[in-house]
Amino acid sequence: MGAIPRVVILGGGYSGISTAKKLQKELHFSEAYITLLNCHDYHYFTTHPHMHGAGTDSIEHTRVAISELVDEFKIDLITSNIREIRLLDKKVVLQDGILSYDYLVVAIGGEPESYGIPGLEEYAMTIRSINSVRLIRQHIEYQFALYKVDETRTERLSFVVGGAGYSGVEIVAELADLIPQLCRKYDVDPSLVHVYNVEAAPTALPGFDPELVDYAMDVLQKKGVEFKIGLAIKECTPDGVYLTTGERIKAATVVWAGGVRGNRLIEAAGFETVRGRVKVNNYLHAPGHDNVFVIGDSSLIFNDEGRPYPPTAQMAIQQGILCAQNIVASIRRKGLKNFIFSNKGTVVSLGKGEAIASASGKRYKGWRAVQHKKLVAIRYLFTIGGIMLALRKGRFL
Ligand code: NAD
Repeated sequence: MGAIPRVVILGGGYSGISTAKKLQKELHFSEAYITLLNCHDYHYFTTHPHMHGAGTDSIEHTRVAISELVDEFKIDLITSNIREIRLLDKKVVLQDGILSYDYLVVAIGGEPESYGIPGLEEYAMTIRSINSVRLIRQHIEYQFALYKVDETRTERLSFVVGGAGYSGVEIVAELADLIPQLCRKYDVDPSLVHVYNVEAAPTALPGFDPELVDYAMDVLQKKGVEFKIGLAIKECTPDGVYLTTGERIKAATVVWAGGVRGNRLIEAAGFETVRGRVKVNNYLHAPGHDNVFVIGDSSLIFNDEGRPYPPTAQMAIQQGILCAQNIVASIRRKGLKNFIFSNKGTVVSLGKGEAIASASGKRYKGWRAVQHKKLVAIRYLFTIGGIMLALRKGRFL
């Protein structure tokens, strides 16, 4: 009998956790040593961080300790930061050690894409982690406090969200819900506050059902959001943004939601990438590396029309499950399965009591779409943590 293979999963997001859960279910502990590495000791539900950014929900509601999700008898948990992936040596260098692997699962997510727009990386905030979200939350409220000590600085009350994709729309929606509360708390006239959503494409939510996009824009405009559609941000400064038309929006807060790219560690490892994402094969292998799987936001998969699928949570979960099945098959020297994406639909939150959804050819708006979103989230909680987690966290979603 050969040596027991070492499986290392990098990342405890949707795809990494799904891989770990499936592996622990399928593999006997004598078949592999499994390690799951994440930079925090918790898993968080990235479909909800905009709520904390705008301050409308508690962070505790949407994160859970990874130790609650996986069986530590079968999986070794490590909390650390990755410094380097060394493909030739089959090693991962951490800030405080080195991991060797036989099978590697790269599930380290994406990062904001700034397309080289001047000033964005320096002055705009992004919602990519619980830590960045905490910062935005404090920053927004601080602007109201600052305004009250110098009421000539009206740019403190202007908020720009760059990009009206799913993230941008969900962020402005939460901001719009938060503003009335902050106005009351800081004695600020609501008519002085401006929330702008700037989108370069000819429509908000490009690619989404146009009727639902109209509904979403109507709901958000009624909540006070000012859309700038068909206008790109060309520069970000400490006190606002410049658009391609030359128009300047003075704002002390710019949140960038203009797109995502793969994690930079992946390019540094020498993988072939497109905007930092690896075009994986049908088995989810990185090309040329039969023992390395790349899944989640760092992977690139094309649909039948040759267009890349957006990196969504449902894609990450489905990839995680198939990746685990293919690792099990590789260890047992069986045939591998092809990845086939099954689209369960899309839901976009529009803040309190409002959402839009499209699923199985049907459109949902308002309350029904909100229920749909809750159902999807509760189903996920149930899958990763059983009925207790679904009951404990599900009621806050
Ligand atoms: P995205 O790429 O979907 O949207 C970014 C938007 O920013 C685009 O509409 C783009 O035209 C615009 N943009 C780019 N450059 C710009 C500029 N210079 N000025 C103004 N606008 C500009 O990115 P996202 O919204 O961050 O979403 C990332 C991924 O996460 C997507 O694939 C999405 O499917 C997924 N996501 C899904 C949900 C959901 O299902 N509810 C929520 C959030 C994110």
